[in-house]
Amino acid sequence: MSIINFTDNIWSYVFLFLLFYLYHGIGITLGYHRLLSHKSIELPKWLTYFIVLGGYLSFMGSPIVWVAIHRLHHQQTDLAKDPHSPKHGYLHSFMGWMFHISKYQTDAEIKSQTKDLCQDPVWNFLGTSNSYHQGLLCLFFTVLYRVLLFIVGGLNLVIINLLACTMVFISTQMVNVICHKPGLGYKNYPTKDDSSNVWWVGLLALGEGWHNNHHWTPKRARHGIKWYEFDFTYLTMLVLAKIGLAKAIFTTEKNSSL
Ligand SMILES: [Zn+2]
Ligand SMILES: [Zn+2]
Repeated sequence: MSIINFTDNIWSYVFLFLLFYLYHGIGITLGYHRLLSHKSIELPKWLTYFIVLGGYLSFMGSPIVWVAIHRLHHQQTDLAKDPHSPKHGYLHSFMGWMFHISKYQTDAEIKSQTKDLCQDPVWNFLGTSNSYHQGLLCLFFTVLYRVLLFIVGGLNLVIINLLACTMVFISTQMVNVICHKPGLGYKNYPTKDDSSNVWWVGLLALGEGWHNNHHWTPKRARHGIKWYEFDFTYLTMLVLAKIGLAKAIFTTEKNSSL
């Protein structure tokens, strides 16, 4: 018996799907990526935790391990040590790399990539190594979250949430595969790697598909640069700034590292 009885109105399900899609999607694009990995925006601690939690609950695992792998991707883009370049195979790029993650970074390398995050007790608690403990911990919290959803809204709410999280997961992996496959998109900037802008990944992944722009200036908060490059994540940052919740947004136009 759930606390809230959602009606069988299709639009209420569509609304809930979009709500979950945006919360969990922003958790990855704004939380794990632009905030933790690249420091493109400064937010209060409580809001940082709330946003990153959306990514964690959509099976992204330890933020420290995620950020370490992502920083390595930027340092070794499309080279032999890039953990998920499609040059090593499309299935590998989509999710195969996750099963061989320790091949790319030792636990010591993870810590040295993320010295800034290792000070934080919450990120530390969620895991600082490739050990299976951090995976099990993530599994525990993701299951607990769905049990709470079940209590609040019943099985339908859980199914809608899982559908939204599956879509979020696929769109995130599409950035690794599609936006690094030569010939599928276009470049605004002459990066030495294969990164490109792909409009439909840009839409699905809330602005992350403008990936050539991102590889040119990784720290820049805004990924969609041209007027038609819609960047939902950047719009969210602007709204946070407008209501006084973002202390700073990094807007350089120069080629930068992390
Ligand atoms: Zn990339
Ligand atoms: Zn990045």
